[in-house]
Amino acid sequence: MDSLHNKLLALDGKGYKAYKAIAGTYTFPAFTLSIDHVQGDPFATPSRISVSVDTRKAAFPHELWQTDVRRVALEDFLGRAIRHAIDRFVKGHRGSGGSGEFHISTSGQQVLVRNAILVNKDIIEARFTLGLPAQGRRAAGREAVAMLIDELPKVIDASLYYQNLDSQQIRQHVHSVEDQDALRHWLQEAGLVAFVADNALLPRASGVDDRPLRKDALPFKAPESLARTVTLPNAGEVRGLGIGHGVTLIVGGGFHGKSTLLHALERGVYNHIPGDGRERVATIENAVKVRAEDSRAISRVNISPFIDHLPFGRDTVAFSTENASGSTSQAANIIEALECGTQLLLIDEDTSATNFMIRDKRMQALVADDKEPITPLIHRVRDLYQQRGVSSVIVMGGSGDYFDVADTVIMLDAYQPHDVTQQARALAKPVTPTTTPGKIFDEPVSRRPDANVLSPARANREVKINTRGVHDLLYGEHHIDLSQVEQLIDIGQTRSIGLMIYYFSQHYAATGENLIQGLQKVMADTQRHGLDIFSPYKVGNLALPRLHELAAAINRIREGQWQ
Ligand code: ADP
Ligand code: MG
Repeated sequence: MDSLHNKLLALDGKGYKAYKAIAGTYTFPAFTLSIDHVQGDPFATPSRISVSVDTRKAAFPHELWQTDVRRVALEDFLGRAIRHAIDRFVKGHRGSGGSGEFHISTSGQQVLVRNAILVNKDIIEARFTLGLPAQGRRAAGREAVAMLIDELPKVIDASLYYQNLDSQQIRQHVHSVEDQDALRHWLQEAGLVAFVADNALLPRASGVDDRPLRKDALPFKAPESLARTVTLPNAGEVRGLGIGHGVTLIVGGGFHGKSTLLHALERGVYNHIPGDGRERVATIENAVKVRAEDSRAISRVNISPFIDHLPFGRDTVAFSTENASGSTSQAANIIEALECGTQLLLIDEDTSATNFMIRDKRMQALVADDKEPITPLIHRVRDLYQQRGVSSVIVMGGSGDYFDVADTVIMLDAYQPHDVTQQARALAKPVTPTTTPGKIFDEPVSRRPDANVLSPARANREVKINTRGVHDLLYGEHHIDLSQVEQLIDIGQTRSIGLMIYYFSQHYAATGENLIQGLQKVMADTQRHGLDIFSPYKVGNLALPRLHELAAAINRIREGQWQ
């Protein structure tokens, strides 16, 4: 610590590059500081540091991190604790550019696997970025002393030592996450695809704010006929709505909470922090939101179950386009979700192509079947379940035709769910036979991008991977638009996806396997070795995505050939 102090004082007022000399490791009374990367100037990407605390001295009871899920929950809690401590003790702006800023990556309402905090039996490591302070372009060594010698120890002391934290709050956080994880696992044995606990609060503060709506939110209450009870490891017995296998419809008038319920189910693949309102909402982990996404690119996807005999005999068994229509994009989104092994599709009429969802009697009378390339979902949704075991939850307020194919119909009335399956069945007609008998959903066609699509490094230069937002990934020459990939929720996931694509291109792209087999290996490697395997440097800004979102990024690349 003293040597760092002296170095910082000595470089005060020198050129900014003098900071390069502080890279290295320093021992503080309560932690070890490692300065891993020093920025080149005050406006550049900030410097990277990491702090490690002796796990025994930090003294978190072993039960708080003894299993993987508890450890991830504790890491999440500590990341948030550090963020709060930064708000409390760090002055912030101390000169030009990013001078004076401390930053740690944390999740929003979800609890994601990240690499900002890592807890193991020996050390608790926390990774930050900081803006080394400058006056103009000169090193402000005295300000740096204030940051590293004064502020940083206060931050670490307040957030990484058990005795200085609210033990009640930590326990609640860890137990709540563990419960949600257990709930998700229970779904399989209970024969369900989703569960929404009584008293869950589903509406959000706004369309762009994922925090709960505080005022006038009506708590969820399951109708008796669809209620199930689960025993969670910490909370004990919890009652709620169980959504079973097969086809479930969510109906109800406009503005009665249908999309809000579906959104909660989409996010139910992730764990949520206590107080979110959705911490006891769980969906099976491979559930995929499927929507229309016109103008996306499609590469060799077999959309023939939905779209056939296109004008001019265009192939739909290995369908490619740089500019999909609403219906072709929605078809491709379903087939790609099947490739990744989904067992539950989540579909909202608000974001679907009408002609993909239904085709009524009068339209059939006017436009003969052989003139219509689209077989709408209503004629395929039972095939999906019977042939592939894939269930669906469909929000459909606009057409009763779906009564014919539904197993369960839930009506939302002023945000409250009612079981109207019997009434809907009384109105249903015998199921219209599918137009093509026999097996519709075959095993997916094997496909992968040509090796050069994903290794765009030129003249031995490193591939450029950049994120400009959660839904905006730059990978080499490819600008990948993820704006319609709704279950991608954190920029740390997007960063990981960029790095994982590169890792895939280096390890598995040329092995002759298809895309998804290769990506599954990438996911398995992450599981085994952690997010750090994707970066040659120590970074703390990554979060774990699902296979589905990783594949979604590659599937949306516009340029290049696939085979
Ligand atoms: P729909 O899809 O049926 O048209 P939405 O799900 O979009 O309806 O919900 C309409 C509005 O009602 C939204 O502003 C939403 O935040 C709000 N809302 C949804 N569920 C609840 C609830 N349980 N309590 C209070 N407001 C809710
Ligand atoms: Mg809606």
